[in-house]
Amino acid sequence: MTKKDLPPQPAPSDRLTRLIFGLRATGVTDERVLAAMERVDRGAFVRGVFAARAYEDLPLPISCGQTISQPSVVGLMTQALNPQPRDKVLEVGTGSGYQAAILSLLCRRVYTVERHRALVDEARSVFSAMSLANITAFTADGSFGLPDQAPFDRILVTAAAEDPPGPLLAQLKIGGIMVVPVGQSDTVQTLIKVKRLDSGYDYEELRPVRFVPLVAGLASE
Ligand code: SAH
Repeated sequence: MTKKDLPPQPAPSDRLTRLIFGLRATGVTDERVLAAMERVDRGAFVRGVFAARAYEDLPLPISCGQTISQPSVVGLMTQALNPQPRDKVLEVGTGSGYQAAILSLLCRRVYTVERHRALVDEARSVFSAMSLANITAFTADGSFGLPDQAPFDRILVTAAAEDPPGPLLAQLKIGGIMVVPVGQSDTVQTLIKVKRLDSGYDYEELRPVRFVPLVAGLASE
């Protein structure tokens, strides 16, 4: 069979529309989140052989041995975070940049931190190709947050910690929300929503998830 004989593949935009439609059945119901996800082409964040699977609800490998999260998990986390148009948001674990791109359409300013410099470089080039000018990506250990930019209205951690890191709790505004997977790295973790109250914090367990671990320090490559 030659290439000419293969059945035509639907255009990426049709495949994206179908993916987003399917997310409703997984519990992503917030219309603003769905609209933002429909505007961000996930195919731009996945390279090589896995690019063909970018429009399936699957986590996929990216550079540096890391993963781009499953779209339904991205949707549920974004929905739980409930970002508002005036918000300043911190994401820990830039990875491919996909989650940061979605956040950038839902709030005023996104700071995203990643310990692998190569991933930060790749994500920055996708952000600029998409003209997403309200995202700043840093190579740093995100467990310490970004003291210079703090406090944040929202913090989204996309790597699993044993407990919500203290510096991140401290950098959350009163009334602010943090969503973070907690648990041992090699077991099922629980997604937690933390709300900062006038005094103290309120913790709500959302659902089981599986993320790569939050690792201390900058990556050597
Ligand atoms: N949000 C990403 C997926 C994240 S995968 C996306 O949309 O594609 C988790 C990422 O967290 C990995 O890239 C990993 O390198 C990064 N990471 C792990 N520990 C970290 C730390 N202490 N500081 C910053 N990034 C970290």
